[in-house]
Amino acid sequence: AAVIVAIDGPSGTGKSSTSRAVAAKLGLSYLDTGAQYRAITWWMITNEIDTEDPAAIATAAAKPVIVSGTDPNAPTITVDGLDASGPIRTQEVTAKVSAVSAVPEVRALVTQLQRDTAAAAPAGIVVEGRDIGTTVLPDADLKVFLTASPEARAARRSGELKGVDVASTREALLKRDAADSGRKTSPLAKAADAVEVDTTELTLDQVIECVVTLIEE
Ligand code: C5P
Repeated sequence: AAVIVAIDGPSGTGKSSTSRAVAAKLGLSYLDTGAQYRAITWWMITNEIDTEDPAAIATAAAKPVIVSGTDPNAPTITVDGLDASGPIRTQEVTAKVSAVSAVPEVRALVTQLQRDTAAAAPAGIVVEGRDIGTTVLPDADLKVFLTASPEARAARRSGELKGVDVASTREALLKRDAADSGRKTSPLAKAADAVEVDTTELTLDQVIECVVTLIEE
């Protein structure tokens, strides 16, 4: 039977790198749900929808057509047929994505997309996000919740962003965590049956090994 793996946690914990590597190693599909929320946010910005106006976002939520390519070795994301993989990583999108993804209409649409994608994956899938184990795929075969100290997370993120200092990265991360954890609809949360892995002192290879072992158990 297809194996469904949910990997949740805040940003900077190694979620994306771990999920992609685990999926590639085991021949599974891979879905980055954060990229989907980022893609909708990018569409809202491009179409001049006020991202501070939940009613305006709710009204427009169904307009963008988001398509995710689930090959872990070459994940893709398009919005209305346009490659969005670059634009969804800007600081503007990162700053606005929590507000857009807090809108229930947005979450309902994206959640359905994620369930359809998981159901269609031939061998199974690794899905990474904030609410996968709690809300999107509550019957996943394995749920992992990744954590790390704010310092380690900020250091990793500012390393990726090149030129952005650790202190302001840390501040932005904690602000996004607070917004993602505090929203009413499916907040960032650890499922009761998730295995928590603190990656602060682990290398990426060690985290990958740990998750692969958990899947094979
Ligand atoms: O993982 P990433 O940092 O790209 O996620 C971007 C944002 O998308 C998160 O800060 C959160 O607001 C939202 N998100 C979400 N639920 C998910 C995945 C991401 O609300 N399952």
